[in-house]
Amino acid sequence: MIEQQIKAAIRDIPDFPKPGIIFKDITPILKDPVLCENINSAFTEKVKDMGIDAVAGVESRGFLFGLSLATKLGVPFIPVRKAGKLPYSVNQKVYELEYGTATIEIHTDAFQKGDRILIHDDLLATGGTVTATSELIKEMGGEVAGFSFVVGLSFLKGREKIEPISDDIIILAD
Ligand code: IMP
Repeated sequence: MIEQQIKAAIRDIPDFPKPGIIFKDITPILKDPVLCENINSAFTEKVKDMGIDAVAGVESRGFLFGLSLATKLGVPFIPVRKAGKLPYSVNQKVYELEYGTATIEIHTDAFQKGDRILIHDDLLATGGTVTATSELIKEMGGEVAGFSFVVGLSFLKGREKIEPISDDIIILAD
């Protein structure tokens, strides 16, 4: 039900941001408050017994449902940002992209050692971004409780990449 609603709302944008890429645009979901509420409820129901201490959302679309989910669970939200965006002291992780590298950062006081953290993003593609996020969280003394995504691009096999980190993987529309 929720899967069909999400798939019906998402639109394909050919050749964005580069020729040959079909970008999944989730912004039509945000125009539908009933669907947003259904997504929030579906995530909350699926993760409520996982013993989560905080939700880490990946810039920038991971902030949208990540914050709602953390708020519904009554736990802190941790913004995971690209280099140079967070104002306080940070820990960072450099990771490989198809061409070149990228850097993500988390505030040094974002969570306590031993906290069980759910990593959230809008979309799972290759899994590179959330793998780097999980490595940074572990380096900072956190535990990865699991992953949640609104959408998965199953042909890119991101699930197989992140399963060794945690097999608690929630993808509402795969
Ligand atoms: P990955 O690291 O290859 O799994 O890429 C996932 C990251 O890229 C997430 O932060 C997504 O927001 C973004 N991303 C990749 N492809 C798309 C897309 O088609 N639509 C929306 N976001 C995408």
